[in-house]
Formats: sequence, C-alpha cells, structure tokens
Amino acid sequence: MNQRKSGARMIQKLIDRTPTWLFLMVAVLVMVFFTLMTMSEMGWLPFDMPSWSDLLKMEEPYEPVQQLTDEKMAAVHMIDVGQGDSILIQTKEKAVLIDAGERDQGQTVCDYLKSAGVNKLDLVIATHPHSDHIGGLADVLTQIRTEEILMPELSDEMVPTTSSFQRLLTAVEKEDVRAVAAEPGLVYDLGGGVSLTVLAPVKDYDNLNNYSVVCRLDCGQTSFLFTGDAEKQVEQDLLDAGANLQADVLKAGHHGSSTSSCDAFLDAVRPKIAAISCGQNNDYGHPHKEVMASFSQRGITVCRTDLQGTVIFSTDGTDIVVHTEKEAVQ
Ligand SMILES: [Zn+2]
Repeated sequence: MNQRKSGARMIQKLIDRTPTWLFLMVAVLVMVFFTLMTMSEMGWLPFDMPSWSDLLKMEEPYEPVQQLTDEKMAAVHMIDVGQGDSILIQTKEKAVLIDAGERDQGQTVCDYLKSAGVNKLDLVIATHPHSDHIGGLADVLTQIRTEEILMPELSDEMVPTTSSFQRLLTAVEKEDVRAVAAEPGLVYDLGGGVSLTVLAPVKDYDNLNNYSVVCRLDCGQTSFLFTGDAEKQVEQDLLDAGANLQADVLKAGHHGSSTSSCDAFLDAVRPKIAAISCGQNNDYGHPHKEVMASFSQRGITVCRTDLQGTVIFSTDGTDIVVHTEKEAVQ
C-alpha cells in the first residue's frame, strides 16, 4: 500500500517537474507519426510506415508462405479453406492449383496465391464438380491468369446444374482458359525434374466423388498423391489398373471420410504422411475415427488443416519438410 502511494507520488513529482513544452513536443510527434501512418496506408507516401493493423497485431504469429529456396524442388501448400480442398503446387518454373474450396473461400485462395508470389497459374485442376472443391475457382480464374483447366469428363446424366458449376464454366469461357479432359497417363512437366501424372478417373461412375481427378507429383525421390474425394471404388479401380500409387504424402480422400482410404489402398500407397483438409468441427465428423485408426496402426503421421491451419510441404527431392500455420491442439 505504502509502496503504491510512494510510486504515485514519484510520478506526480516527475509530471510537476516536466516543462509544458516537452509535453507539447511529444504530443506533436505522436500526431505527426499517426498522420504519416495513415498517409502511408492510403499510398500517399514514397516509403512504408507500419500500418494500423501491424500496430494492433504487434507481431505476425505465422509466416504465411514458405517461399521456395534455391535447394528446394517443389512446395505443396494445403491451404486452409475450412471444409473443402485447395492445394497449391509450386515449382521453380510453374504453379498448379488443385481446387479452391467453397465459393466464400475464393478470395482467401486468391490472396494466398498472391502472397505466395503466384501471378499466373499454368494449370488448375477442378477435381470434381462439388462446391467444396470448385466453389472458389471462378474467383481464381477471374483474378489470376490461368493457362489450362483440367476437369473430369462426366457422362451426360452426371453433369450438374448447380450454380457453382455454372459459375465455373462461365469463368472458363470468359477468361478464355483452355479446358482439357482428365485422362490417365497425362503427364505435366513442371520443370526441374518435377512431374505431375494423372491417374484417374479410369472409368464412368454414378457418384461425382468418384469422378475426382487423382494425380501424383514426383519430385526426385519424393512423391505426393492427390485424390480429391475419390472413394474406395476408385481406390480399388486404381489397384486393378496397376497404377503407380506409392507416395510419401497422401492427400487423404474425401476429407478423411471412411468412404475412402481402404486397407489395400493404404498398403499400396505406403504413405509416411496423410494430409487431411477439413473444417473445424465440421458437420460430417471428418476425419472419421476408423480412418484415423488405420493411419495410426500404420504409423502414418497425420497433418490436418482443421487443427493446424495451412500446411506446407517442401522438398529438395530427398527429404520433405513440413511447416504448419498453427500448433495442433487436440
Ligand atoms: Zn469434398
């Protein structure tokens, strides 16, 4: 109590002894600083000042984008788009985007791509026409120059009439993007010895998830398998087709649902890491506990966007390094 009183007296003494001109000078300096900060935010200054948001946040908790360093061949970004998928593949020469989440995630994906320095997409893959995969793609095609879009060729009765699919088709036409049908065996050279190979769809289905474009990325001795929402039927069809499935990182099919990741498929892929893209506390209960148990039994490390935010894998062709936006809170 006494200590607090004497502290207050000391501050009062200090104020009494400080000349008024010093108070005025500090006040003027503070005003000039905030005026410059506001002018800088409006783009009226030739130099950068800290922004209001910088001051409010004080520090950035996460470096959003792991830039490709000289020794890296490729980076694979599983962008946190809530319940949905969006994956950016970056090599030194090319950029590929697989899906862009729901419609309300389109701007998130565009902003992420721009912050990663992607101002042109060589290829966009629309795995299958469900809104949690293609909803945000129209925004991407409108904002970022895209050379080519790869989509599954659907049988007539499976072509959807949804607004998300219509918006995508309109954007493809308006932005003059070359549309290509996904065929197994199609290979994209992404430069620097990195290639992307299409494995599925291998046939027609009565379920849109099973039309998902499945592809593998090979970077030196490391590899990634992207499965969209392909279910067990497709996994079996890929096994029957003798596709090269072994991969270090498996993007778990259908957000970790038990409709996917059957035992025979996991035995063939033999992933070290399973990457799951799903929303926090989503309505579907993804990832399902049976799938998590299968991964755990096999000693597979799991990365999840619902717990860790955006997950970035970078590879030098030998090792894969994982960066996550947040520490997982189980
Ligand atoms: Zn989905």
